[in-house]
Amino acid sequence: MDAVRNVRRKRLVAMKAHVIKRITDLSVNHEPLSMVEIPVPEPRTGEVLLKVLTCGVCHTELDEIEGRTPPAFFPIVPGHQVVGEVVAHGDGVNEPQIGCRVGVAWIYSACGACDLCLDGKENLCPDFRATGRDAHGGYAEYMVVPAGYAYPLPEKFSDAEAAPLLCAGAVGYRSLKLLNLQNGQPAGLTGFGASAHLVLKMMRFLYPDSAVHVFARNPLEREFALSLGAAWAGDTTDSAPELLAGIIDTTPVWLPVLSALENLNPSGRLVINAIRKESVDTEVLTQLDYAKHLWMEKEIKSVANVTSADVREFLGIAEKMELKPEVQLYPFDEANKALTDIKHRRIMGAKVLQIA
Ligand SMILES: [Zn+2]
Ligand SMILES: [Zn+2]
Repeated sequence: MDAVRNVRRKRLVAMKAHVIKRITDLSVNHEPLSMVEIPVPEPRTGEVLLKVLTCGVCHTELDEIEGRTPPAFFPIVPGHQVVGEVVAHGDGVNEPQIGCRVGVAWIYSACGACDLCLDGKENLCPDFRATGRDAHGGYAEYMVVPAGYAYPLPEKFSDAEAAPLLCAGAVGYRSLKLLNLQNGQPAGLTGFGASAHLVLKMMRFLYPDSAVHVFARNPLEREFALSLGAAWAGDTTDSAPELLAGIIDTTPVWLPVLSALENLNPSGRLVINAIRKESVDTEVLTQLDYAKHLWMEKEIKSVANVTSADVREFLGIAEKMELKPEVQLYPFDEANKALTDIKHRRIMGAKVLQIA
């Protein structure tokens, strides 16, 4: 009850939050976020109030700030990899309990009533709302979220380690589910960034008899993939030593899509895990050859966001695997520095704000 009383007191005062006030160009504006004082939000029916402990910093924040996936309103508090403690319930909420440490991911809410939601595809719901883009997120001392989208976190992970699992880890898990691999079937990853390296670790755990082949331009990434248990690593346009049952593409461009299709088995599936593809090399699509790339029942499938079930399942697997990401911590008031470091690809590891 102390926590509740503290929050009641706290509601009388303001909290600190970083907000995006407008779309801006990060190559000229190095301080896109403004630190403001705003009221601590009140949890409404079905919601919980969280005291935020840490929040991961994601490349998607850059997409919001620069307008590629623009916020629904301004000013908005960004942040969709939130670790917090439940400190108050709105009406009708019993779980998660007061004092429970929970995570919040990119999915903030969905309608729960449309055909897609009823079919377990709430990530595709027309009323899908994203944390930190369509509702205030975790770059703040407090936030509210619908109770069903706050997931109890395994104790094994520290507040900092848990944050990156809620984005790169959870979306990577969804792409692996969509690949529909059977243990023993050979598979591939094209592109080897933050999400792909977590996916490789998951593949080694979930499909221990499947050889994983990694296609990456950067020789250091290929070396890293081999050190994590990849059976083979080559350049983006190389041919793997065998045809593959499924490949996950995490690159922002089109050439790897064509190369991946050439590397697929008959009936193989390519899963594209990217919110948007860049237009720099769309001309390679004119080389798409039906017989070479698509014939023999090859499939292409995209990945959109995550469901609450994905996040819950993934956290259980991450706990069993002890899947701990490399983390780079920033003080709360250095959020702008964390974002510019992502923009300029400075410092390895997932970036996390320490808020409490
Ligand atoms: Zn993210
Ligand atoms: Zn829906």
